[in-house]
Amino acid sequence: MPCDFRSDTVTKPTEGMFKAMTTAELGDDVLGDDPTVRRLEERCADMLGKEAALFIPSGTMSNLLAVFLHCRPGEELLCEENSHVYIYEQGGYAQINGVCVRTLSGERGIFDSETLVSALHEPNLHFPNTTALFLENTHNRGGGSIWPFEQYCNVCETAKQNGLTLHLDGARLMNAVVATGRPVREWTKSFDTVSLCFSKGLGAPVGSILAGCNDWIHLARRRRKVLGGGMRQAGVLAAAAFYAINHHIDRLAEDHRNARLLADHIREMPSTMIRLKYDEIDTNMVFFDLVGPNRSSKRFCDELARLGIQMLPTGPMTVRAVTHLNVDTIAVERAAEAIKTVLIMKQAKEA
Ligand SMILES: *Cc1c(COP(=O)(O)O)cnc(C)c1O
Repeated sequence: MPCDFRSDTVTKPTEGMFKAMTTAELGDDVLGDDPTVRRLEERCADMLGKEAALFIPSGTMSNLLAVFLHCRPGEELLCEENSHVYIYEQGGYAQINGVCVRTLSGERGIFDSETLVSALHEPNLHFPNTTALFLENTHNRGGGSIWPFEQYCNVCETAKQNGLTLHLDGARLMNAVVATGRPVREWTKSFDTVSLCFSKGLGAPVGSILAGCNDWIHLARRRRKVLGGGMRQAGVLAAAAFYAINHHIDRLAEDHRNARLLADHIREMPSTMIRLKYDEIDTNMVFFDLVGPNRSSKRFCDELARLGIQMLPTGPMTVRAVTHLNVDTIAVERAAEAIKTVLIMKQAKEA
């Protein structure tokens, strides 16, 4: 069986999850009477410490709805320069919502209050009005990095003092919760809206949640419909998400251990050929760079795939490996062996 480390989105429903899906009580969620969706939305609102929540087909749509809630057309939101909403969502904020974005530079997706303050200005005829700040935790392109909590609170406080509303892209927020042991509500309390994915490390096939105040979630429900995101017997999917939050949160610690194990193996390989991009492994992501002339992450991943290991090229020389519930410690050992084999093949070719 191939071991797929490309993303934590590749997970297949577990047996228990499938059972929950096939036995879920269903209705028509667009008409508002799917009990399983309602139960999920109530549970998530409570878990995230917000008044209400809305089940959404994807994290991308969830962020898109957040942009709609936080900014009118022509207004501007601030986010870190490598954030998912800016890099990986087709510029939906502009395409669909007519909203401008200005980016802040960060270190592994993380920045400080001074950086935020330096991006703010008095209202002025020349500038779009800046209305919102989006943060991402854990940070995907930052290597699954976790915001240091004090810095996170300071940035949120500074944003609020300056009249900005706050959205948390918490696609992998539960990874931060498990890795730090800090309760989820502490991570969400400063935010007007929070988005979280069930289809990443939590292992559900589809779905995200957007949480916030009653009024905003009501608006988001209308907007979700016009985007084509109204789903009928969505309880089939909500049941998977519900199962995930009941059974797949604590086990994220296992993914974090496996990511550290893979990183340990890479550290022991010759640094003239391969090097960790981020030495610290906060959660379930490992990024590494190939070193030396004529290296190509694309070719490297093709060669790995021939050995039954899939990883994702994310830059010309950069490869990403993500751990999740369908790759165990044995798969990690096999992956490390395969990486060594491909590196040795490369060395042999050059000799
Ligand atoms: C995956 C991801 C999203 C988008 O989720 P999809 O369900 O793939 O649309 C948003 N933000 C972050 C940080 C992500 O990693």
